[in-house]
Amino acid sequence: MVQVYYFSIKTHIKSSAVSFLLFRFSLYNTYTVLSITPIASGSKGNCTLVRTENTSVLVDIGIPLFYVEECLQKINVAPKEIGAVLVTHEHGDHIGGVRAFAVKYGTPVYASASAASRIKIKLGQTVSRRFSQFQGNDFFVGDITVSPFPLCHDVPCTGYSFLCGGEKISMLTDAGAVDDILLKRIADSDAVLIEANHDVDMLKASKKYPAVLKRRILSSQGHLSNAVCGAAILKLALGGVARRFILAHLSMENNYPELALSAVISALSTHNLKDGRDVYLTVAEQYKVGNTVRAGV
Ligand SMILES: [Zn+2]
Ligand SMILES: [Zn+2]
Repeated sequence: MVQVYYFSIKTHIKSSAVSFLLFRFSLYNTYTVLSITPIASGSKGNCTLVRTENTSVLVDIGIPLFYVEECLQKINVAPKEIGAVLVTHEHGDHIGGVRAFAVKYGTPVYASASAASRIKIKLGQTVSRRFSQFQGNDFFVGDITVSPFPLCHDVPCTGYSFLCGGEKISMLTDAGAVDDILLKRIADSDAVLIEANHDVDMLKASKKYPAVLKRRILSSQGHLSNAVCGAAILKLALGGVARRFILAHLSMENNYPELALSAVISALSTHNLKDGRDVYLTVAEQYKVGNTVRAGV
């Protein structure tokens, strides 16, 4: 009798342990589905992959078709798997490869209503047929909820949050400014890809850029500087949820990865926050597929 009792307790402990492990496993699975991989990032062309186990989307294709295909192959993603191309805005570094990709693979293209008509004109009739436009409401691509939000740029521009399984990843580039309303909107993101376009002093000292272009970049409808990016990351990090940040859309003329990183690290140090301990920073590069950042790890 005692033996049977002992056996049943042991079995119970064993099965509880298995249930606990299964529970942890399902939790792990539930909270590690969403990820983001910068394919190309910078003034010469942008493309970002966001995926779950079941759905993959590209945000912008501002690089040539052959290069997207090559990059996707490196990370074992078949172009046919891409469920949608989400376009942020009409500038060439974001749409240069959209038409070729959408036509070859029959991929649906999404953009905001305010940007769509302008993008359709630039991309031509063949892509117009594959075009869906949104008004600002959330929509679904597979198991990903896409939540678009407007950004300040010199043309209509969209930032995106992606949600799945309780996880959230947000991205914003080509934004002249970030205000508290925008930061509040993305504060509960597990990971954020955010623009660190230029170092203000490098830009001002540039001999290559005409004054009018400098004014545009520095304006509230231009691009985020390293300093503004650092201040935004500090606010998000202090919020206590967002911990993984990808610095993106760096100018090849007026910035470099170490400079962008050091600006953000110095902003964080004002509140004793450290890269590698409190937050995790990476830099998306122009000609290299970046590390995949998972929302839940
Ligand atoms: Zn751009
Ligand atoms: Zn732009």
